Amino acid sequence: MIPNSFEYKRANSVEEAISLMTEDAQVLGGGHSLIPALKLRLNNPGTLIDISKIDALKTIGDNEKSVTVGGGATHAAIANDAALAKHVPMMGQAAREIGDIQVRNVGTIGGSIAHADPAADWPAVLLASNASVVISNKDGKREVDIDQFFLGFYDTALEEGEIITAIRIPKTAANQHSCYVKFKQPASRFAIVGCAAALDLEGGTVKDARVALTGAADSAYRVKSVEKALIGNSFNLDLIHSAVGDVTEGKSIMSDHYASEKYRAHLASVYVKRALKKLL
Ligand SMILES: Cc1cc2nc3c(=O)[nH]c(=O)nc-3n(C[C@H](O)[C@H](O)[C@H](O)COP(=O)(O)OP(=O)(O)OC[C@H]3O[C@@H](n4cnc5c(N)ncnc54)[C@H](O)[C@@H]3O)c2cc1C
Repeated sequence: MIPNSFEYKRANSVEEAISLMTEDAQVLGGGHSLIPALKLRLNNPGTLIDISKIDALKTIGDNEKSVTVGGGATHAAIANDAALAKHVPMMGQAAREIGDIQVRNVGTIGGSIAHADPAADWPAVLLASNASVVISNKDGKREVDIDQFFLGFYDTALEEGEIITAIRIPKTAANQHSCYVKFKQPASRFAIVGCAAALDLEGGTVKDARVALTGAADSAYRVKSVEKALIGNSFNLDLIHSAVGDVTEGKSIMSDHYASEKYRAHLASVYVKRALKKLL
């Protein structure tokens, strides 16, 4: 449980952090995933670049068309943000359910999505919100659609030397009518299964829908069969029951000592229904 030795550097700005990036360097956010990985020697960076003191990464901005959450915003800051509560309620709901108060006060959204734990909460919420990820690197900035960001088991579109500086969440009617529910591991509170749903309803008819699951497969994913079945139809209990079929079709479902593959698949459809019922 003792990490390999590494150099430690603290950056005071994003520009400084990027300039410090070398081939064997890694950024340190809240450290809630990275430090355990260092201790288990699963990660052995030569240099850790601490970005946790960069204030510009912590801001949550209420813009005209989006809410922009800094990559270094803590789960607790997100849980308490008024703009997110108004425009994307599932963000606060998810944040309040992460870990315990210590984890929420230190862990960051950027660190969570860079790590891409298959049981993490943010991936489902951001997929359902149609967010985009703002990434800085030595050449400037690029913005990646959330649908292209998560590539698989602990794998993302982030490249070497890149830092997540913000997550942009559009202010849409669907995001205003959104929720997140999860069946949690009782000790860590990671999602055994978590579902985020965002629905744009016009006169009771579903105009747009985004539904995403985490915890079930090796990476969070959108349940497009459900989205398709909802759109264009009157939103009611019957529609929910007919739209939610096998929500794990085509996915390789995880199995561990908390939940077998069969039980997880069952939970997945139960939690998609629960999320949708919460929006009724
Ligand atoms: C006891 C416990 C319970 C938890 N429960 C939950 C839970 O219920 N739900 C949940 O979703 N999560 C949970 N977590 C994880 C927690 O949310 C962490 O905050 C998160 O996984 C990592 O964020 P971090 O800021 O600590 O990142 P770090 O641990 O510092 O970094 C993780 C990875 O991301 C990289 N990184 C960090 N910041 C950035 C950035 N801005 N740009 C690019 N790369 C970056 C690092 O280099 C590293 O590879 C739990 C953790 C613990 C210890």
